[in-house]
Amino acid sequence: MKSTDPYLKICKYAFCKISFNAKRTNQEFCCRDHYVKHNNLKAKTIRDLTKSTDKVLHLNRHILSILSQKGTVSANDFSKLGYKISQFTSIRKNEKGENVFGCYEYIIENVGNGNYKIYKNE
Ligand SMILES: [Zn+2]
Repeated sequence: MKSTDPYLKICKYAFCKISFNAKRTNQEFCCRDHYVKHNNLKAKTIRDLTKSTDKVLHLNRHILSILSQKGTVSANDFSKLGYKISQFTSIRKNEKGENVFGCYEYIIENVGNGNYKIYKNE
């Protein structure tokens, strides 16, 4: 029985796919340039898939950085600045068992009467 040559490879870069003689058995690309291009395309695909959500989260974080300087804020303060309440990066329970939402390093805590306190998670 004849086995295939483990050094005879096909370049993994989608726009190349040439067969080449690898120097190592774990080499997947015909050259460094195709390794870089393959990984750049992979990163771009992920960026394109997460772009719209990331944009909202980054804007929310920016709004929280502004509102955190005010002490207590109202729900109206959030909506005036365009805060999207449906997008957050974390959720946890406070000591009363209530949900507390976070966006990156900022935490939003409901302090009652439609008011919120925003602080940094240290
Ligand atoms: Zn190649």
